[in-house]
Amino acid sequence: MGTALDAASRGYQTLLLEQADFAKGTSSRSTKLVHGGVRYLAQGNIGLVREALYERGLLLKNAPHLVKNLSFVIPNYRWWEGIFYTIGLGIYDLLAGKLSFGKTKHISKKEIIADLPGINPNGLHGGVVYHDGQFDDSRLAINLAQTCLEQGATALNYFRVTGLAKNDQQKIAGLKAVDLETGKAYQLKAKAVINATGVFVDELLQMDKPEDKPLVRPSQGVHVVIERSFMPSNDALMIPKTDDGRVLFVVPWHDKLVIGTTDTPLNKHSLEPVALDSEIDFILNTAAKYLIKAPTRKDVLSVFAGLRPLAAPQNDLSKTKEISRSHKLIVSASGLITITGGKWTTYRKMGEDTVDKAIQVGSLKSEASKTKELSIHGSMHDLDWADHLYFYGSDRDGVIALANENPEWGKKLHTKYEYLQAQVIWVVRHEMARTVEDVLARRIRLLFLDARAAIEAAPLAAALMAVELKKDTTWQQEQIALFNKIAANYLLQPYC
Ligand SMILES: Cc1cc2nc3c(=O)[nH]c(=O)nc-3n(C[C@H](O)[C@H](O)[C@H](O)COP(=O)(O)OP(=O)(O)OC[C@H]3O[C@@H](n4cnc5c(N)ncnc54)[C@H](O)[C@@H]3O)c2cc1C
Repeated sequence: MGTALDAASRGYQTLLLEQADFAKGTSSRSTKLVHGGVRYLAQGNIGLVREALYERGLLLKNAPHLVKNLSFVIPNYRWWEGIFYTIGLGIYDLLAGKLSFGKTKHISKKEIIADLPGINPNGLHGGVVYHDGQFDDSRLAINLAQTCLEQGATALNYFRVTGLAKNDQQKIAGLKAVDLETGKAYQLKAKAVINATGVFVDELLQMDKPEDKPLVRPSQGVHVVIERSFMPSNDALMIPKTDDGRVLFVVPWHDKLVIGTTDTPLNKHSLEPVALDSEIDFILNTAAKYLIKAPTRKDVLSVFAGLRPLAAPQNDLSKTKEISRSHKLIVSASGLITITGGKWTTYRKMGEDTVDKAIQVGSLKSEASKTKELSIHGSMHDLDWADHLYFYGSDRDGVIALANENPEWGKKLHTKYEYLQAQVIWVVRHEMARTVEDVLARRIRLLFLDARAAIEAAPLAAALMAVELKKDTTWQQEQIALFNKIAANYLLQPYC
């Protein structure tokens, strides 16, 4: 999406094809942080941290309706940790320069208990508070798709690339694609083809050169979602070193807490990865050490898994947490351009670097990137974060107008939540939602926040969509069944 936006805003004719829905892959399954990566600082990867902190600042400027400045608290259970983290995070602040989100400070035991009610006070010395960003990942992807359209690109979901087209010199000259809704196949000409398919990059690379070794090593990261009551705070908890040497975040997100993540090397990838029991247990057991009220499996409202598209080292494939998180840009002999790795925070820079490369490879007329200054669809300052429609930004009034236009649409989608039926109408009309899952997973985040409630809301969402899309009751039944099947992976049943 970042590449398409960078290309379109430079004035190139741009087509973005997504085989499923926008952000159906990893981009809806992140920890929702816009961050430099405190962990990469500890690994000494200063360049990556500085770049990400700069991008963090730009994202707050260009999508202020989706990115929040959030305080993260590191609890200190040993006397030296306060000094250690205050110095380390002071460097983090310095690296952010003018785009700093706020100064790191040391706080007392009394202050940390006040900031993070619910934290286990036993053995606590104090804490360190630093600032980073938080966002709604799939909402950003949808708003980016809208910005692409506004910049003149064509962005199509449910449209799969099935092959590459080459000229007599065996150079890429276009691609083959199929519209998954109609089954119609297309041959498309292009001066540059960019493979930005996350953990799926090897499939396209093998369309180019079937004998190529895999480039990406998928690593699964799982999150569980629980009620805010376990830690009723506006601040996040950052656990700097878990038993397996990772960091774990407990982050307030919408009206819930998201806890994660894990790092489990896998040998296969999928659009709907499933959390392992061992990953869920690890997250719950770690959280239990830091919270007074230990969350258990029956408290989990939703569990979601995502796959990191890490560029694999060719020797030891077992240590995915040590594989670099910086992005990799590769040009094949055929001219196919592949971008992989990286993180959400640096999506803009990844797009800029990729288009710079495409200009060389495709001999395009050179134009400078414009995305540093480009506002993203919905961009609006001075939001009321307490308003449940805040994330629409400048589109909020449009949603409200729909709710006023039809009294039914002004009613709730689910009795327990503030979502309005008007939001379903809005996302079908303006945000390219095609299925019930598009609506409940990525336009509004109910599947990620409370999977059971999402299943309960599916029939009403399907009925509202059917009227808009002129679909019959068979379509509605199929949509509900499909959604329930996917949602089952987000539900956690107690087990013995
Ligand atoms: C658990 C976890 C937590 C993370 N947390 C953070 C975080 O807090 N902050 C941060 O900055 N980063 C985070 N990241 C990293 C970030 O989420 C990813 O780097 C980013 O989302 C990857 O985006 P992508 O576009 O490369 O891949 P994807 O989002 O997976 O997109 C690739 C898309 O390509 C499509 N595709 C594949 N094959 C085809 C084809 N043949 N035709 C058409 N389309 C195709 C797929 O359907 C898919 O939607 C996290 C990653 C994970 C796994």
